[in-house]
Amino acid sequence: MSEEKHLNFIEEIIESDLASGKYKTIVTRFPPEPNGYLHIGHSKAICLSFGLAEKYGGYTNLRFDDTNPVTEETEYVKSIRQDVEWLGFKWKNELYASDYFEQLYGFAIDLIKKGFAYVDDLSAEEIAAFKGSPTEPGKDSPHRNRSVEENLQLFEAMRAGQYSDGAKVLRARINMQHVNMHLRDPLMYRIKHAHHHRTGDAWCIYPMYDFAHGQSDSIEKITHSLCTLEFIPHRELYDWFIEKLEIFPSRQYEFARLNLNYTVMSKRKLLELVKEKHVESWDDPRMPTLSGMRRRGYTPEAIREFCDRIGVAKRENLIDIGLLEFCVREHLNRIALRRMVVFDPLKIVITNYDKDVELLKGEDNPEDKGSDTREIPFGREIYIEKDDFMENPPKKFFRLFPGGMVRLKFAYIIKCDEVIKDEAGNITELHCSYIPESKSGEDTSGINVKGTLHWVEVHNAISAEVRLYDRLFRVEDPANEAGDFKDFINPDSLQTVTTVYAEPALKLAKMNERYQFLRKGYFTLDSKDTYHRLVFNRTVTLKDAWAKEVKKGV
Ligand code: ATP
Ligand code: MG
Repeated sequence: MSEEKHLNFIEEIIESDLASGKYKTIVTRFPPEPNGYLHIGHSKAICLSFGLAEKYGGYTNLRFDDTNPVTEETEYVKSIRQDVEWLGFKWKNELYASDYFEQLYGFAIDLIKKGFAYVDDLSAEEIAAFKGSPTEPGKDSPHRNRSVEENLQLFEAMRAGQYSDGAKVLRARINMQHVNMHLRDPLMYRIKHAHHHRTGDAWCIYPMYDFAHGQSDSIEKITHSLCTLEFIPHRELYDWFIEKLEIFPSRQYEFARLNLNYTVMSKRKLLELVKEKHVESWDDPRMPTLSGMRRRGYTPEAIREFCDRIGVAKRENLIDIGLLEFCVREHLNRIALRRMVVFDPLKIVITNYDKDVELLKGEDNPEDKGSDTREIPFGREIYIEKDDFMENPPKKFFRLFPGGMVRLKFAYIIKCDEVIKDEAGNITELHCSYIPESKSGEDTSGINVKGTLHWVEVHNAISAEVRLYDRLFRVEDPANEAGDFKDFINPDSLQTVTTVYAEPALKLAKMNERYQFLRKGYFTLDSKDTYHRLVFNRTVTLKDAWAKEVKKGV
């Protein structure tokens, strides 16, 4: 199938670069800043950079863009590694922009010597004021024409720690009247007396993104440096540095970032949700982080399929989270083990069943021909869902009602004979009879029923907790609403059912298995809270209940 697909614009560029002999090996990189956990947006960038290198027989580096000492932490480095691995990609080299600090410093010296960089003493405010605006040219700094010797001496003194934060900066000497504001003598280095997670206190000057990024690409001989559209105006500067330094000609290409509705995706906002305890943690199953999605039960296969389906675009758009959920459902339908769990029980006594408990067979997954079967105990007392029974049913209610018949999945047809109530008139149990010849798989009863219910046998049922998740936000694009995005949090995004009744096969539930609780949705064990009791997270509903609600205008 993939052969029939059209090439995306980056594939076209790569194929022409390979054909012309411009590059022999395709080298890409994924360059996260370790200042937060990866989210579903990053998976788009990961699938693209790793996927292209894989497709064309090249390789990908994982490079931590750790040039800002203040916001970066080792915890984030670990989580990023884990998430990329979980998605199913292997990097060739694990690298850190901070490994290049010495080399970058050397590049800066080179530019100073060539007359392309200078030390400026203006304050941040003055630099901003001198910069002009898109419609108004900037002004030269009074320090712009320092001699090479003076610049070298001052830059060395900056490195040696002789100045306080903000006292001096190193700037590229390009053109203060340039139409592209990014080329109006951009900053290359700033002074920051701060501890760095890897280099410790070795440095008190740190390179700016624009100076570090392209040069790191070049050092690693990255051929196609893929980033999101907001970097388009930076490309000219990216090329300028490479040209003036006469280093490996990496090239930058931009694609549209992935935006999803009903969530937020900037790390700063996600951090706010965690810090202010709107969610439990970065890996809260409602978060759009990869760790949250993993804990919720999303599969890497589904996420990769999703990234593939949305393709590579050159224009920003908002993707419907329904598409991601569709991909998750599609994969889970193929792999999930079918199990029966009753959330809100109504007891049934089968009055004509006087055998001991018998063990019935249930196939694990009808979509998977090779799948096993498990044993399901059936007996005189069972639970069904309360809302699968109605005393006075409307037309087309195909579940159980007085005098009505249903099939119990994997078991028998039963008939409701009597409704038992307490003194207050509440239904306490139902008395039913079963049809012995109607056993699933060997049914000779000739009776046709419309409804099939899930159920569990009372005495063999095990208890568990389930957590039902809904969208974290009530509006499609919370980041673009007026006011604080947190005002749009969905107050009902988590519903916990502390005791549900599950068939005993779930006693052996495993962390890496996926389950379809019949008629209830897809579930997986919670990786954090399953110790003495079983806790299941609902990954996704069976059908899109939300779209139906929206259609109804609720
Ligand atoms: P944030 O704005 O959330 O902090 P970022 O872009 O600063 O994200 P980085 O760690 O710098 O995060 O991102 C690493 C790579 O992932 C970059 O190449 C970036 O372009 C890409 N990326 C980040 N967010 C998205 C997204 N929503 N869609 C596609 N690619 C993304
Ligand atoms: Mg960034």
